[in-house]
Amino acid sequence: MMMKKLDKKDSVYTINLAIIEGDGSFPCPKCGMAISPEDESEENYRIVDTKVVNDKLAELVIVCGKCGSAIKLAGFQQAFDA
Ligand SMILES: [Zn+2]
Repeated sequence: MMMKKLDKKDSVYTINLAIIEGDGSFPCPKCGMAISPEDESEENYRIVDTKVVNDKLAELVIVCGKCGSAIKLAGFQQAFDA
């Protein structure tokens, strides 16, 4: 099966939370499952990496609990600092 690859070799999706409306939930870019950052049960996703800048969460890397895709969440400062 031929699949067109994106420029990035690793298939890490990036979600900019600053442009997400509502409660901050978003569909997994790959499988479409709803992922909510508010949900801390780790059933829908698992946090694998965090990046803190100036004592503030700048980036979060999560893994979709359904399809296992790595998803990078950015835009925290715009979302919570306004
Ligand atoms: Zn998924």
